[in-house]
Amino acid sequence: MIDNWRALDRIEDVERETPFCMCGQPTSAAARPDGIWLECVSLRAPDTSRIGRLLSALTPGGHTRQLIVEMVTDAA
Ligand SMILES: [Zn+2]
Repeated sequence: MIDNWRALDRIEDVERETPFCMCGQPTSAAARPDGIWLECVSLRAPDTSRIGRLLSALTPGGHTRQLIVEMVTDAA
């Protein structure tokens, strides 16, 4: 099990290494049931504007989504 301080260090390192997605939007750490992910912010709040849809079409599947810390849950 990874302790919280090491996890926080890891998150900060990854955010520093990859501050922006290839689409130009910033990346941000997000907690998910399976762990902490570094994600493009556009994955969280889809841009429905015309230019946003165009950029999404130009970068299919190209958004940053990287597992930072895997969450290990205790099996019951
Ligand atoms: Zn992106």
